[in-house]
Amino acid sequence: MLFERGQITTYRDVDMARVTFNEDLCKGCKLCIDVCPKKIVVIKDDVLNKKGYHPAGVVEMDKCIGCAFCAMMCPDCVITVEK
Ligand code: SF4
Ligand code: SF4
Repeated sequence: MLFERGQITTYRDVDMARVTFNEDLCKGCKLCIDVCPKKIVVIKDDVLNKKGYHPAGVVEMDKCIGCAFCAMMCPDCVITVEK
């Protein structure tokens, strides 16, 4: 990664994990919520997907440790974890 003049980039910024959900495949079973050690996966009560479920998503992404337990647990391959 390049560091430009005036840019503040911490080790944590560079190394942070990113978790994405293919929301329309989610059936809201909550298995990913139960398994997350940081308790940052939640059901998005204000969103309805194409199947008519409230999908799961991550709040406070900066707390994610990239363990990928959520992705491994999901029976519908909704979740992708990048580190
Ligand atoms: S990768 Fe690990 S810490 Fe991050 S949301 Fe998934 S289960 Fe939680
Ligand atoms: S485990 Fe998969 S299908 Fe179940 S709530 Fe989580 S993302 Fe949705």
